[in-house]
Amino acid sequence: MKTIGIIGAGQMGRGIALVCAVADLNVILIDLDEQAAARGIESIAGNLARMVSKGKSTSDEAKAALQRIRASAVLAELVEADVVIEAATENVQIKEDLLRKLDDIVRPGAVIATNTSSVSVTRLGATLADPTRFIGMHFFNPVPVMALVEVIRGLRTSDATFDATVDLAKRIGKQPICVKNSPGFVVNRILIPMINEAIFVLEQDLASAAEIDAGMKLGANHPIGPLALADLIGLDTMLAIMNVLYRDFNDSKYRPAPLLREMVDAGYLGRKSGQGFFSY
Ligand code: NAD
Repeated sequence: MKTIGIIGAGQMGRGIALVCAVADLNVILIDLDEQAAARGIESIAGNLARMVSKGKSTSDEAKAALQRIRASAVLAELVEADVVIEAATENVQIKEDLLRKLDDIVRPGAVIATNTSSVSVTRLGATLADPTRFIGMHFFNPVPVMALVEVIRGLRTSDATFDATVDLAKRIGKQPICVKNSPGFVVNRILIPMINEAIFVLEQDLASAAEIDAGMKLGANHPIGPLALADLIGLDTMLAIMNVLYRDFNDSKYRPAPLLREMVDAGYLGRKSGQGFFSY
């Protein structure tokens, strides 16, 4: 395994690219256009510079890692990849369209993984001619900091694909847990409804955003409050995940808080837009 293709140079794709490059892998980072991909590289360069200033990496190592990443808008370049990780926008249509295109580009036998937060791995895998090579590889945000990767087997994922993915996760310094395919998998099934409940609490004006977050930090020992975490995840991604849980379980306990919808409609997406439950 030498070359990893990553689709989506957003906050997750950038983080995955960084940890792969630091682990000595070559990275092809794809986004919709050259500019979006180049912005991804700029942000990775900033992150690597911070790692150097904190003494977590030498400047030579950081320079070499950056040189291993190539940004592009041309999906066909993924013909070189040994593994492709799809980390594009959380939207089923976008992901299915991408996978259909990848099917013809990525060499036979190479693993295709998705970083989806909530979409069924079995469903996405069914868009490929060979679903046995498809798997979920769910990273956590911020990728360079968070140790966990959920490795999610779809119904038709092969043992060879599973083993290769676990090996890759370990090689890039992550701790994999094996999870069965189900809406939200394990961590988001628990975490995202908890954050959604915090948004209901805010909407009902039971406490301010700062007080809700202080409550969960001081009272439940969470390192970050639920509303600050929602801003970090991205409110559009939060809403997409709640919608999947609500639809796929067909259970009203997963309905998204109306305030979450309002925020997304207003363009308040959290950190990435500069405004969410808090200002950035
Ligand atoms: P983001 O909005 O920051 O980035 C998504 C990127 O995908 C954008 O740069 C966009 O231009 C690009 N994109 C969209 N369609 C594309 C296409 N057809 N081809 C190439 N690039 C395309 O989103 P994100 O937070 O990085 O999330 C990406 C994926 O990772 C989603 O599936 C999300 O659910 C998942 N995820 C997110 C988090 C989180 O905390 N944000 C955590 C784990 C997993």
